[in-house]
Amino acid sequence: MKKFFLLIDRLLSVFYPRVCVACGDLLQQNEPHLCLHCQLHLPETNYHLEAVSPLEVIFRGRVPVQNTLSFLSFRKGNSVQHILHQLKYKGNKEIGAYLGEMYGRKLAASGRLADADMILPIPLHPKKMRLRGYNQSEWIAKGLSAGLGIPYDTSILVRRTFTETQTKKGRFARWQNVKDVFAVAHADRLAGRHVIVCDDVLTTGATTEAAIQKLLEVPDVRVSVVTLATAQ
Ligand SMILES: [Zn+2]
Repeated sequence: MKKFFLLIDRLLSVFYPRVCVACGDLLQQNEPHLCLHCQLHLPETNYHLEAVSPLEVIFRGRVPVQNTLSFLSFRKGNSVQHILHQLKYKGNKEIGAYLGEMYGRKLAASGRLADADMILPIPLHPKKMRLRGYNQSEWIAKGLSAGLGIPYDTSILVRRTFTETQTKKGRFARWQNVKDVFAVAHADRLAGRHVIVCDDVLTTGATTEAAIQKLLEVPDVRVSVVTLATAQ
């Protein structure tokens, strides 16, 4: 039976050749998403191996964060840019789970985040969710969860939806909207926990900060941030 499926797989690859998410070269049978070359040359930050992650400056003086870690370095034109493009705009959600799990295993081996209880992906704007059909951060969280061996939950950190009239209000109201774009449901499940907020790319951290502020309203919550890539 296994041989049969292998045959089908080979036949399909004649008509629908599988290509590397990062470089577009044809993939070998044993290469799931990335070719061996791209996989071996992923620009990993390895910040989880440093005593203090250089990304910790992003939230310093804004919100208290336990760890701020990103797997890969995003640079214009590098393999990570191609990977993120595929993940966000080309329906390739599996690459998010694949790299998330790879990073989760590395984090687990390092002991960093050993006391974390759960992973909360940053929810996507409802409009983007409708367009894309999936939340890429949720797929990264799914992979991280498998690699780290802790659960992920999409029902706790949620986006609030605003009515038309609300979005047409003045500047102050719009600022209020940004501030309150996230909400926390089931706060009882968070109290006293160390949660990992998970997203695709970390840049200025403004969106993430809004989410962290909401989470920190729950008593005794500690927050860490883990993203697939960083442009810092
Ligand atoms: Zn490649």
